[in-house]
Amino acid sequence: MLIDSHAHLDNERYADDREAMLRRAWDAGVGTVLAIGIGEQADGMDRALHVCRQFNGQAGIPRLYASAGIYPHNTHEADDTLLAKLDGLLGEPEVIACGEIGLDYYHEGALHTVQREGLVKQLEIAAARKRPILIHCRGTNESTDAWDDLFLVLEEHWRQTGLGGVMHCFGGGWEQARRSLDLGFLVSFAGNLTYPKAKPLRDVAAKLPLDGVLVETDAPWLAPAPDRGKRNEPAFMTRTAQTLAGLMGVTEEEIASATTKNFFKLFRLRSDVGN
Ligand SMILES: [Zn+2]
Repeated sequence: MLIDSHAHLDNERYADDREAMLRRAWDAGVGTVLAIGIGEQADGMDRALHVCRQFNGQAGIPRLYASAGIYPHNTHEADDTLLAKLDGLLGEPEVIACGEIGLDYYHEGALHTVQREGLVKQLEIAAARKRPILIHCRGTNESTDAWDDLFLVLEEHWRQTGLGGVMHCFGGGWEQARRSLDLGFLVSFAGNLTYPKAKPLRDVAAKLPLDGVLVETDAPWLAPAPDRGKRNEPAFMTRTAQTLAGLMGVTEEEIASATTKNFFKLFRLRSDVGN
């Protein structure tokens, strides 16, 4: 079975068929999904947990876990009330990760200084709750500006926790991948790995060790080729996994078992606890 390490299951675009979408994932061989709790606004960061609780325990649906975090462009909302809410959520057993958090200098939004402050505050909360983090990092066009700032923050505020995390929807180069592994992070690939222009990303993936990778959909966004632009869903996970297997020179079964093992190890979960 595959694990989709990053899907926005609470998204409005699943309002009409969320259960059917989850059943399709199970039928496609996706046994576990990490539902990302950032909401549309930061206050909705508990919605992923509610989706988990609604569906966990039902047959024919993947085992669901949740995260909670304040997205980079929502960090201007990160007041004491919201940070207390995050802290409470990270104390829930299903909420295994803090994220997605990080730095986004690509889109216009929260000031870079505000993003960095918001990130550091959340790192402190995640460290106290002993939750690994899910990082979103995107620089200005081809620049590594956000990555450079991110590594400065992680070296100062995260490395010593030993908790590690996931570089979600990885889009950096080899240097950023190498530094991520060195910090105890897993590098997670989304559907953009399958896009024709993503040759540099595929070259990075091909060089990574099997014990350093994860796969994800980032659904409802980033549908793998040939469905690019359509609504994505966890059932489409298989195509990204196939692409990664090809690049790494292993079978699809080996990618499934390696990424599953990596996921359970990072989050200290037992793989035999299923639905
Ligand atoms: Zn995401």
